[in-house]
Amino acid sequence: MKKKIYNVIIIGLGAMGSASSYYLSKNGVKVLGLDTYEPPHKLGSSHGHTRVIREAYHEGISYVPIVKRAYDLWNELDREIEDKLILEYGGMYLGDDGKYLSDAKKSAKKYDIPISEFSSEEIKEKYKVLNPPKNFKGLLENRSGAVFPEKAISNFLSKSINYGSTHNYNEKVIDWNKESQIYQVKTNKNNYFAEKLIFSSGAWIKNLVPSLNLPIKIERQVLFWFDPIKDKDQFHYSNMPNTGWDLDNGIEFYTQPIIEDKGFKVAMHHNGKFISEDNLNRESNMDDLNIVKNFLEEYIPLANGNLLDSRVCVYTNTPDLDFIIDFYPEDENILICSPCSGHGFKFTPAIGEICSELVAKKKTNYDLSEFSIKRLMK
Ligand SMILES: Cc1cc2nc3c(=O)[nH]c(=O)nc-3n(C[C@H](O)[C@H](O)[C@H](O)COP(=O)(O)OP(=O)(O)OC[C@H]3O[C@@H](n4cnc5c(N)ncnc54)[C@H](O)[C@@H]3O)c2cc1C
Repeated sequence: MKKKIYNVIIIGLGAMGSASSYYLSKNGVKVLGLDTYEPPHKLGSSHGHTRVIREAYHEGISYVPIVKRAYDLWNELDREIEDKLILEYGGMYLGDDGKYLSDAKKSAKKYDIPISEFSSEEIKEKYKVLNPPKNFKGLLENRSGAVFPEKAISNFLSKSINYGSTHNYNEKVIDWNKESQIYQVKTNKNNYFAEKLIFSSGAWIKNLVPSLNLPIKIERQVLFWFDPIKDKDQFHYSNMPNTGWDLDNGIEFYTQPIIEDKGFKVAMHHNGKFISEDNLNRESNMDDLNIVKNFLEEYIPLANGNLLDSRVCVYTNTPDLDFIIDFYPEDENILICSPCSGHGFKFTPAIGEICSELVAKKKTNYDLSEFSIKRLMK
C-alpha cells in the first residue's frame, strides 16, 4: 500500500502546536498533529483559565513586534469566533525603579506604547486594595489584560480540523528519523510520514531531540484563586488591573482580577522547584499556599480570603529565559518551537503564524535571533 505523506507533522498540540496547525491548515498545508493527551489538558504549560498579556516588554525589546502582532490576531480570532479570547482591562507592574520597570519603559518608549507612572501613594489612592511599599512605583499599561489558554487551544484545534488538519490524541511520539528526504514519526500506536516536522512538545521537548542536548529545565509553578474577604467588586477586572510585583528580595508575584467568577488569581513567578516533566507533584501543598498567602497578607490583604482553587503547571526554562524558535541545525525542514520560560502564551497566535511562515518560506520578517538554538550551544 502506498504510504500517506503529510506536508507537516506537528508533535505536541498545546498552545504552540494548535496555533501552528491552525495557521498552516488555513493556508492549505496538509497537517497531522499528534499529542500524548487530549488538549487542552492539565498536564503541561497551558492551563489555569487565564494568562497575562502585556506589551511594554521588560524581558526584551525584540518581543514587542511579535506581541503587537499577537494583539491583532487575538482580536481577529475574537471576531471570527464571536467569543472573547482576549480581554484588555489594564495591567500594572510594581517595583522600585530597578531593571524591571526601566526595561519596560524602554520598550514602551521605542514602540510608543502608552504607559502612565504612579507613586506608591498614588497607587494606593487609585486601587484601595493594593498596599505597595513606599519605595515602589507602578507602571500602568491600558492594553494589558488576559488571554484564555484552554478556550484558545480548543478553538485552534477545532478550526484547524475544519480547515483539513488531522489530529490524533492520546498518541505519544516515541521516535523519529529521516529516510530519503521523508521523516518517519513513530508513536505508541502507528508510524507516520511527512516532508517537515514541528516539535512543539513543551516540557517534553528535550528527549524528543536528544542530539541537541537542549539546556532546558522544567520548573513547577502553582496557581491559586481566592475569594476576597470584602469589597469583592474592587477585585473585578472592570475595577482592577492585573499586577506584577518585583519585590525587593528579587521574588516576583503576579495577580489577575476576578474574571468569570473564578476568584482572585495569584502566583509566584519562578522560584519553583526544578523537576522532571514525568515526575511532577500535581497537587498544591501547604508550603505552596503559605508562600502566596504571606505575599497577599502584606501587599493585597483583602484578597487573602478563602482558597477557591489551585493548579500545578510547568515552565520550560532556557538559561536566559528567552524562547527557542529555530530550525534544527542544518535542517530547515525541522522546526523547534519552545516559547515558554513562563511568558510565551500571550504570543501564541503570532508564533503559530510565524511557524506557518517558516514552514512555507523558511524565513520570516520578525527578528528571531534571540531565540536561536545556536546561542544555547555556547
Ligand atoms: C503557571 C504558568 C503561568 C504562566 N503565565 C503566563 C502568562 O501570564 N503570560 C504568558 O504569556 N505566558 C505565561 N505562561 C507561559 C505559557 O503558558 C507557555 O509559554 C505556553 O503555554 C507554552 O505552550 P507550549 O505549546 O510550548 O506547551 P504545552 O501547551 O504544554 O504543549 C505541549 C504539548 O506537547 C505534547 N507532547 C509532549 N510530548 C509529546 C510526545 N512525545 N508526543 C506527542 N505529544 C507530546 C503535550 O502533551 C502537550 O500537549 C505561563 C505558564 C505557566 C506554567
